[in-house]
Amino acid sequence: MEVYKSLLDGNRKWVQEKNESDPEFFKRLAKGQSPEVLWVGCSDSRVPANEITGTKPGDIFVHRNIANMVVHSDMNLLSVLDYAVNHLHVRHVIVCGHYGCGGVKAAMSNQQFGLVDNWLRHIKDVYRLHTEELESIDDEETRFNRLVELNVMEQVFDLSKTSIIQNAWKSKKQPVIHGWVYSLESGLIKDLNVSLDSSSELPKIYNITTKVVAGTEV
Ligand SMILES: [Zn+2]
Repeated sequence: MEVYKSLLDGNRKWVQEKNESDPEFFKRLAKGQSPEVLWVGCSDSRVPANEITGTKPGDIFVHRNIANMVVHSDMNLLSVLDYAVNHLHVRHVIVCGHYGCGGVKAAMSNQQFGLVDNWLRHIKDVYRLHTEELESIDDEETRFNRLVELNVMEQVFDLSKTSIIQNAWKSKKQPVIHGWVYSLESGLIKDLNVSLDSSSELPKIYNITTKVVAGTEV
């Protein structure tokens, strides 16, 4: 059977199972969503947000891209973030990377891969910021794993630089931003303990304190 047909088949089986185990499942979800978590993860097919966290449809609002990046000019990410924070009022934003990430590995190399190189350039910047630590690690696999972790930490930091997050922290003291890394080998998630819930530790240059209205500073 062609793959796409097996997906449709799989869908029908899933609907049948859901209706049998929880007859109100679809009616309930069709009414609306109120997830408490926004997930920023990698597009990698092996890291599905709901499945690896044992959560259900409706529990997590999801944004995925190659190497779970928070790029401040990415309208897709910014729109998802704004909607999640200001309309869904999520309480947590989780950046979840994963060891063995092809995007991070590509960024560590000097090879050309095409258009994606422009996206991965942001990871090279993370490498440059942490060159000393990374180049002190002799084992290539260990260095790769560390860059995966550092990349997640930098994306958590990048989230905290956005006006969306800073304004939400000021007005409603949420969301809390977390950095996690998933292991493809064990299936376990490691919390990097880099959670942020205020601008207090943000370098001053990124701190947004005033709003300019019609050219007047207020
Ligand atoms: Zn990946």
